[in-house]
Amino acid sequence: MRIPITDYAPAVTFANALVSTSPTVRLTGDALPTPQALQTLLTTHNLATPPPTPDDLFNTHLLRREVRGIIETETEEQAVAGATVLIKRAGLAPLLDRDATGRWQWYVPTTPNAPLADELAAFIATGLFGAIRALGHGRFRPCAAPDCRGVFIDISKAGRRRYCMPDLCGNRQNVANHRARHQEESTPR
Ligand SMILES: [Zn+2]
Repeated sequence: MRIPITDYAPAVTFANALVSTSPTVRLTGDALPTPQALQTLLTTHNLATPPPTPDDLFNTHLLRREVRGIIETETEEQAVAGATVLIKRAGLAPLLDRDATGRWQWYVPTTPNAPLADELAAFIATGLFGAIRALGHGRFRPCAAPDCRGVFIDISKAGRRRYCMPDLCGNRQNVANHRARHQEESTPR
């Protein structure tokens, strides 16, 4: 894998999506239950790899827990230390190479034949580094929806993202608000 590091957004978007598949976050169970489900997640994020094996899935589940731990770190230093552990697993020295348009770009290559979870660890680490450098650790947040245990990194321009899965958790918040209002109206005074 050759990871372009000019833009951290794709790696952070993938890290957020991976962490959100966990049964800790999903009330309906693990959203990454099979190697096929992992393959679909990878394809969605334009990560072309050979089909994941059950071992790849197991190690990606472990990675998911580690990434969550890094998002939950209390200090910026701890987050950087956590991402450093991840990048060292398969990350090699950065190199400069031409992209498809002929422009020079920074890349982090990974060890040839590295296990999938180690490649993903390096990919995610570049995103964590980029987000910390550009936006700071304050963008590592818990989801604001009631009862949601999700965490995420907000890389939006305004920095006002509140939910780990905006479609799902934003709705959960609306339902909670609606119920609260309804209860207030129906409580006899
Ligand atoms: Zn959430």
